Amino acid sequence: MTETHPSTATPPSSSGWSPDSWRRKSVHQDVTYENPEHLKKVLDKLERLPPLVAPGEIEKLKGMLREVAEGKRFLLQGGDCAELFDYCSQEPIQNKLKVLLQMSLILVWGGRTKVVRIARMAGQYAKPRSKPVETIDGVEYTAFRGDNVNGMPLNEREPDPERLLGAYFHSAATVNYVRALLASDFADLHHPESWNLQEGQWSLEHVRNPYTRSEYREMVNQLQDALDFMQTIGAEGDKQATRTVDMFMSHEGLLLEYEARLTRECPVPRRVLDSAPPSPRPAKPSDASDAGSASGTQTKAFYNLGTHFLWIGDRTRQLTGAHVEYFKGIENPIGVKIGPSMRPEEIAPLLDILNPRREVGKVTLITRYGAGKVREYLPKHIAAVAASGHKVVWCCDPMHGNTETTASGLKTRRFDHIVRELSEAFEIHQECGSYLGGVHCELTGDPVTETIGGSMNLVEEDLSTNYQTFCDPRLNYNQSLDIAFLIAKFFKK
Ligand code: PEP
Ligand code: MN
Repeated sequence: MTETHPSTATPPSSSGWSPDSWRRKSVHQDVTYENPEHLKKVLDKLERLPPLVAPGEIEKLKGMLREVAEGKRFLLQGGDCAELFDYCSQEPIQNKLKVLLQMSLILVWGGRTKVVRIARMAGQYAKPRSKPVETIDGVEYTAFRGDNVNGMPLNEREPDPERLLGAYFHSAATVNYVRALLASDFADLHHPESWNLQEGQWSLEHVRNPYTRSEYREMVNQLQDALDFMQTIGAEGDKQATRTVDMFMSHEGLLLEYEARLTRECPVPRRVLDSAPPSPRPAKPSDASDAGSASGTQTKAFYNLGTHFLWIGDRTRQLTGAHVEYFKGIENPIGVKIGPSMRPEEIAPLLDILNPRREVGKVTLITRYGAGKVREYLPKHIAAVAASGHKVVWCCDPMHGNTETTASGLKTRRFDHIVRELSEAFEIHQECGSYLGGVHCELTGDPVTETIGGSMNLVEEDLSTNYQTFCDPRLNYNQSLDIAFLIAKFFKK
């Protein structure tokens, strides 16, 4: 992309950072478009389109993640490996929201912990690939890179810039419907049964395992009793707190052309300025025009307003690469995936670059080693962070180190391996005196059969029953609830 599109937007700041300064670095997982004029037209259009989220929401999330880093809250992040534009439809969005809300209810009630919810949704279209091409019947095709780059059908594999606009509009429609559901009764804790209501009857028909079903029903009953009791004695307090919840959006920040055009310089919300620490915040790299009000506190900053939270993938986190350059200039809370290939000595420099103001909760390290490897790598990474003096959010992605392929060629994961990595991560953090503050899952609210095991005992032969993913295998509805119960139990210990 770098060679084909001239830089258009905000002029570089004195510190050298701008939403386009990444173009001077090497871009891993780059996309090359045939027609630079077409790309430019699309990017100009993207730049004129309105934001999908607001700086105040982003700062609110950052505040919640600060609490996670301090051990006072738990992060639940989940959604599809990759969204297709086709998933932007009423039922899939409702189902995804439902399963995330139910998981968080299990965590809040069962684990007695405050939760912050981030969906992998409304923008999770691009996929990093291990190989740029795939060979089918001896013929080489450009790999499918996600709906925002090219199409899955073999005759649509040429990257098409129009798909970047498709990503924006599908994200907008998804965010809009999520907001509408949350603003109505969908997330009302007084009626969690409505997440499963069918013709006025309780229906947990997706919950095939009787044990999970009764555990969940029992918990909802207890919760309703507690709410009734509080209402009876007039102690409901902040009614709004039980009527709806926050749900933030996230995706991997892979396509920098897109991310840069959704990055806007805007005033830092008043609330954030007012709560700034007494010592002035030093001007940061992104601080172009407005650094240096009298106190030195910046009043304007760059936010990626296409989503609340973005992460850098395990394949694009090179210290001198384009992705780290882009990410270091935005105010959003950000994640970094780290796996076995992360050298411990790279962690401190990476955190210094990404978080020079050392904001607590700004960076979430999302670890993904694999069940057999977490013991070997995680303690060294925890030690490296401790030595760096940074305070991060630690989040376990028990998915990406546990992917395997069956004899018949299906990508799958074993629920047992997922649970093992997650349990070991909890134990290791405890042993090392740090706090595992979150889980990052690939999941769907639909009854797919992509992951082996779980309380519904899916076996390898079941996978073909409803195998839908074209990317990584996800937890289905039931397996997602299983994970939430497991985490809640960790909190009770
Ligand atoms: C992903 O989250 O889908 C992914 C590709 O992860 P990672 O960068 O950790 O491999
Ligand atoms: Mn994935």
